[in-house]
Amino acid sequence: PPAIRKISEEHDKVFFTGCLEPDTSKPKANAAFVVLARNKELDGVIQSVKSIERHFNRWYHYPYVFLNDGEFNQTFKDVIRNYTSAPVEFGTVGPEMWGYPEWIDPKVAKEGIAKQGDAAVMYGGLESYHAMCRFYSGFFYKHPLLAKYEWYWRLEPEIKYFCDITYDPFLEMIAANKTYGFTIAVKELRETVPNIFRYASAYKRMKNISSQGLWEMFVDPIEKPKEEVPEDDPNYKPPLPEEILRSDPGRNSLPEIDPEAMEGESYNMCHFWSNFEIARLSWFRSKEYEDFFEMMDRSGGFWMERWGDAPIHSLAAGALLAPRDIHYFRDFGYRHTTIQHCPANAPARQLPREPFLEKTTTDPKKRQEEDEYWEQWDAEKENGVGCRCR
Ligand code: GDP
Ligand code: MN
Repeated sequence: PPAIRKISEEHDKVFFTGCLEPDTSKPKANAAFVVLARNKELDGVIQSVKSIERHFNRWYHYPYVFLNDGEFNQTFKDVIRNYTSAPVEFGTVGPEMWGYPEWIDPKVAKEGIAKQGDAAVMYGGLESYHAMCRFYSGFFYKHPLLAKYEWYWRLEPEIKYFCDITYDPFLEMIAANKTYGFTIAVKELRETVPNIFRYASAYKRMKNISSQGLWEMFVDPIEKPKEEVPEDDPNYKPPLPEEILRSDPGRNSLPEIDPEAMEGESYNMCHFWSNFEIARLSWFRSKEYEDFFEMMDRSGGFWMERWGDAPIHSLAAGALLAPRDIHYFRDFGYRHTTIQHCPANAPARQLPREPFLEKTTTDPKKRQEEDEYWEQWDAEKENGVGCRCR
């Protein structure tokens, strides 16, 4: 949490405390909700739409864009339109944004996916899940139905907002010059991203990017290990990032971790939980983000490992953004599956501690820093930041 503390205390204040009278007279932002879903998820989507309408969109009427790799059926469309008076569009995601790129051998990828299934990697054996993660990492913002928008708010099936949101978060993010907003940060399942950091770190080094202070949120220092020289090769040199990143689509596994390529840092598995996201699309559409995605994609990691869009977005933010660009929506009550974020005044708050970062460290110094952080947070609770949480 020290890095999070930096974000929330030095650079980032809650936009408003408590409830406001929603001011709907201001011109709206150029923004939309984006929902990727399948027909069979209709019930879960209804739950999410009902929740965001009740707590926010009945005042603000932001449009929705529903996307699907298949066709939405008529029932899905009719039912959804029943739950909102805001404009709704439905689109399909074409094969150029979904599934295998031409440079990968589907047979090799399928084998890799089957292996992950056998190893019980969460969703690792599901081809469609890999495709979804890659879509949300490098394509959603290029979908034709999003071309006219500058901002997006990601909505997933089966989520719940439980506090009223009585201001327009897009307008506030614009006014505060923010790029990326989150409400929960958690640790990733290590086995889904064994090599992700190696590539992200190499990207940063190859592009000569120095941290603006957010990268530290995602890294732990590691002892630089002694170079391992294979006995039979006295001329051995560790590979350069360029070599690591060269396209090698035929291989059936990513290379072993090479600490040399990670500059003495390792990924601490922290990531913004991307099923909630409010972000500026121009950032995803920037050359820097595009280069990042391209390099990550070319490694094959979306298939040979099960890289999620959450760690991809997070590491890209770490490399390319500064803490001042990030907004922590601490006043939003939000739940997805078993993980939730409750603002200080939420009666639904059941956990003794705000679950935005798991307490996993055993390092006593870090532990103390964390404890100080939580004390600070408990103090903040007195003020109450959310509105009508129920
Ligand atoms: P989880 O939240 O990580 O457990 O994963 P979900 O199953 O909720 O998937 C994340 C998002 O991608 C949700 O919005 C799903 O509706 C969507 N999604 C996942 N797989 C597919 C798919 O194969 N097709 C479509 N159209 N959407 C998908
Ligand atoms: Mn989900």
